Amino acid sequence: MKILVAVKRVLDANVRVRVKTDQSNVDLSGARMSMNPFDEIALEEAVRLKEKGVASEVLVVSCGTTACQETLRTALALGADRALLIETQADLQPLAVAKLLKAVADREQPALMLLGKQAIDDDHHQVGQMLAALLGRGQATCASKLEIEAGCAIVTREIDEGTETLSLSLPTVVTADLRLNEPRYATLPNLMKAKKKPLVVFTPADLDVDVTPRLKTLQVAEPPKRQTGIKVAHVAELIEKLREAKVLA
Ligand code: AMP
Repeated sequence: MKILVAVKRVLDANVRVRVKTDQSNVDLSGARMSMNPFDEIALEEAVRLKEKGVASEVLVVSCGTTACQETLRTALALGADRALLIETQADLQPLAVAKLLKAVADREQPALMLLGKQAIDDDHHQVGQMLAALLGRGQATCASKLEIEAGCAIVTREIDEGTETLSLSLPTVVTADLRLNEPRYATLPNLMKAKKKPLVVFTPADLDVDVTPRLKTLQVAEPPKRQTGIKVAHVAELIEKLREAKVLA
């Protein structure tokens, strides 16, 4: 069974986000970039399935600039077998990424497509759902447990009421939530070995996919600064203050 894992290069989760002075976007110049944390979890799950003998191959795919090769090399060091970069300078929006991944899935025919539930840079939470729709396959988002049994993916998801367990026939799309597993770290020997693993580069044109943006970002702004809090003596004063601030009627 082949597993395709989509990995996005994003601003490192520990870096403070800066907005460009013209408010056109987030300023990424010189910023530390990493693999999207939910994609690390998706990849870890794929590698564990391979280690258990359930999967035979793990293919990692990233869409973006040449710099994504670094993210793909990390994925190879973490246990993926092959990497594919779909290289473009375009501002990739979720539908374009989903179309690119579908084109790869059509060629590679993976039984399981594992993605992160969302990319932490733009928080779209859309690519997995769009990919499943484009492929006409089932989907299980926000997986907290995944098992493969008799040609099906058995996925547990955390929902408001508790947990929900779904059975999906393969091929299918699953997106990873935080509690699915705890990803490993790449060791130095594996980082060295990863340099020799295959990494091929395509362009969207090679896959016949139009990645023209459909959405226009009007403005990116930093969240308003938090105001300093005050201490109140008792509940009655708290209610009075909330009424003054028009938080309470
Ligand atoms: P999003 O819908 O943008 O929040 O992203 C959901 C998931 O889609 C991510 O966790 C990745 O697994 C995948 N994804 C999004 N953008 C890319 C990209 N540029 N390259 C590869 N995978 C991506």
